[in-house]
Amino acid sequence: MTIAIWFDLDGTLVSFPDYGRVLATACEAVGIGDADAFAAAYNDAFFEYFGDLTPEPYRRAAADALATVDADAAPESFVTAVRDAEYDAVETPPAVRETLSTLAAADDVAVGVCTNGVPEWQRRKLRDSGLVTHVDATVVSYEAGAHKPAPEPFERAEALIEADRRVMIGDGEESDVAGARERGWEAVHVDGPADVPAAVDSVR
Ligand SMILES: [Mg+2]
Repeated sequence: MTIAIWFDLDGTLVSFPDYGRVLATACEAVGIGDADAFAAAYNDAFFEYFGDLTPEPYRRAAADALATVDADAAPESFVTAVRDAEYDAVETPPAVRETLSTLAAADDVAVGVCTNGVPEWQRRKLRDSGLVTHVDATVVSYEAGAHKPAPEPFERAEALIEADRRVMIGDGEESDVAGARERGWEAVHVDGPADVPAAVDSVR
């Protein structure tokens, strides 16, 4: 009996920072004075591009938002600043590290990460966290062709890891829990990384 345990990334294996603060930090770094107006325009544009799986949603949203404020920053500079600010703010609790390390050493368990996001951002976050060494497969929604809770990311996960049981652990009631159950998987909701060890214990 083998079990594949799939984890969401943001807000599950790693903390997801206060994004208002991340955007404010990035605005300050590139000299955008009216950070609130910029952030409102940026968020609107970003989620539209992201929802449609449009390539380069960060750069496109930055370009759109910069056109609405009085600032000389280049979109690419803002993207670098916001990425650095996000990565600086992300934390990986030691207990999550230990839990994944233990799972990786077990013969009957495979570990996956199934995350909504842009591949290079999410994969680098997984590398920077040090968790990638414990992970057998990663699914990023942009590569799967749809975001969770749509079936595509879960189908891709099923193709990547053979298993008798599949479990999704995540902080998204809809994206993680409902999406996984719709595919016939088991699912455990967590409120954040601190809940991950107990969630894993509950399914093993
Ligand atoms: Mg999440």
